[in-house]
Amino acid sequence: MDLTLILGPMKSGKSFDLISYFAPLKYTDIPHILYQSARNVRDEHISSRNGVIIEAKKVNTLADTLDQDFAVVGVDEIHMFDPKDVAVVAELLNRGVKVVAAGLDIDYKGNMFDIVKGLLELGPKEVKYKRAVCELCRQPVAVYSQVFNKGVPLTGGMPPVIPDDGTFTYQPVCRNCFVT
Ligand SMILES: [Zn+2]
Repeated sequence: MDLTLILGPMKSGKSFDLISYFAPLKYTDIPHILYQSARNVRDEHISSRNGVIIEAKKVNTLADTLDQDFAVVGVDEIHMFDPKDVAVVAELLNRGVKVVAAGLDIDYKGNMFDIVKGLLELGPKEVKYKRAVCELCRQPVAVYSQVFNKGVPLTGGMPPVIPDDGTFTYQPVCRNCFVT
């Protein structure tokens, strides 16, 4: 049917928007499912920072959806999926499935994720661009997600394994505060 994208930096309320869309569906007969990337090892559900939680299935690819008969397919953290899944979304749309995907649009270097670019090229019906509060200047205009290495903006490559010891932190920042 049609594609809705919910894009923006971290802490911009993307998951909350996705949950708001999907929560009422469980009271309907509409077959639907919500996915998140198996690369997200944090949790078994999608949670919003204001405390709302919804069940989501962890997958490595969206390809399995093609074997099933959902009317609505949701995806959280779409940027964690392989760009090859754009073809899966295109097929779902051709079949009349409604697809709602949320995630970061831009990586920590300021470049658009390939899968997001591919989805935009499908011609979504609606794109919601979310903003977060910049954690440096406190203005509600953050569009980037900056990575800091011990407080210093990371501009080079990321290490292959990201230590979970607080060395690297992530913050939404605005265009003025973003360091490339
Ligand atoms: Zn700022």
